[in-house]
Amino acid sequence: MLNAAHDTQALMWITERPDFVMVDGQGSWLVDADGKRYLDFVQGWAVNALGHGHPAMQDALVRQAQRLINPSPAYYNAPSLALAKLLTAHSAFDRVFFANTGAEANEGAIKLARKWGQLNKGGAFEIVTFENGFHGRTLATMSATGKPGWDRRFPPQVDGFPKARLNDLASVEALLGPRTVAVMLEPIQGEAGVVPATAEFLRDLRALTERHRLLLIVDEVQAGMGRTGKLFAHEHAGIAPDIMTLGKGLGGGVPLAALLAREAFCCFEAGDQGGTFNGNPLMTAAGLAVLETLLAPGFLAEVERKGRYLSEKLTALSDAFGLRGERGAGLLRALVLADGRAPALVRLAQERRPEGLLLNAPRPNLLRFMPALTISAAEVDEALRLLRRALRAADGRP
Ligand SMILES: *Cc1c(COP(=O)(O)O)cnc(C)c1O
Repeated sequence: MLNAAHDTQALMWITERPDFVMVDGQGSWLVDADGKRYLDFVQGWAVNALGHGHPAMQDALVRQAQRLINPSPAYYNAPSLALAKLLTAHSAFDRVFFANTGAEANEGAIKLARKWGQLNKGGAFEIVTFENGFHGRTLATMSATGKPGWDRRFPPQVDGFPKARLNDLASVEALLGPRTVAVMLEPIQGEAGVVPATAEFLRDLRALTERHRLLLIVDEVQAGMGRTGKLFAHEHAGIAPDIMTLGKGLGGGVPLAALLAREAFCCFEAGDQGGTFNGNPLMTAAGLAVLETLLAPGFLAEVERKGRYLSEKLTALSDAFGLRGERGAGLLRALVLADGRAPALVRLAQERRPEGLLLNAPRPNLLRFMPALTISAAEVDEALRLLRRALRAADGRP
C-alpha cells in the first residue's frame, strides 16, 4: 500500500496506477515495498529481455559505470562500436544509429526515409503505415500510429502517414503515389493486441516496395531482440528490409534503442541526426550484454520452445474457460477473451495473495503475455495457475 514515504502527488498525472511501489526485482519476480511478490509477465513492457537483475547486465553496467559513463556523442566509445558491429553481423543491415527510446529510433527512421526521398525520389516523403499500428508518442510517431484517433490528438498532426490495412496488399497499393517514399510496419502489431503480419504479406510487401523503389521499414521495437524466438521477427518471413528500428529488449531494461539501415540508404549528412545521450557507453554496454546473451548457443531455440509451451498452456486454458483462443509468436502472446473483462482480470491477478501475477490488457478483450525470455517452465505453470484463479474469481467462483 502507499504510505507517507510514497507521496505520489509530485508526479505529473498521466495514467491510473495500482497502489503499490516496486522496490526489488529478480528474474521473473518483482517485490513491492510491503514484501509482496509478483510474477512478472509485463517485464517493463517487453523490455527486460533477461528478466530483472540479470548478472550479465549488472556486471556490464557496474564495470562500465566504473570506467566511463559519457564521453559525449562527439567521440567514439568502445561499447557502442562493439554493439553496432555485433548487430550488423547478425542482421541484414550495415550501419546503426543508437537512440534512447523506440519513438526516437522511429523518428530517425522517418527522417532517414525522407532524406532518401529528397536525394533520390524528387522529394517524396509519404510513408504508408497501418491501421492499429503503434510507433511511439512523439508528434511524428503518433501521426504514424494507427490507434484510432491518435494521429489527431495533438493537432496539427505531422503530415504524410496514410494508413493501410495489415495483411491487405491492395490497401497498400491503393495509397502509393509519386509522393510515397516508404512503407513502415510492425512485423507483429504489439499494442494492437499481438496481431501478426503474415509471412506471405511481408514477402508481398517486400516485392511491392522493390517494384516501386520504396523503402521497407520494420519497427521491431517490441518484436525484435529474440522476443519471437528469432533474433528479429522479420526473419520468420525470410525477408531483408531496408531499415529496422529496435528498442525495448535491446537495452534489457535501460533506455537504449537503435536505427539500422542497409548501406545504400545511409544518407544522413553532418548535422541531420544526433542526440546528447545517443550511443553512450553505459547503455550500449548493457545492450552488448543482452545481445551476447541472446546469441549464446541454444538461447533462442529455448525461447521458441518456451513460447510453444506457453501457447499450449494458454490454448488449454482457453478451452477450459470457453475463451476465444490465443495467438502470437515466441514469448509475445495474447489470450483472447469472450468479453471485455481483461482490465478486471489484470486487477484480480495482481491483487492475488500471497503472490500476484502482473499482466497487461492492451484491449478490453485481450490479455498480453511478455515474460522475460529467461522464464522457466515452472514459472509459466505458476502464471497459468494464478491466471486460472483470477478467471474463477471473475466468474464469482472460489
Ligand atoms: C513501445 C513501442 C514503441 C515506442 O517505444 P518507446 O521506447 O516507448 O518510445 C514504438 N514501436 C513499437 C512497436 C513499440 O512497441
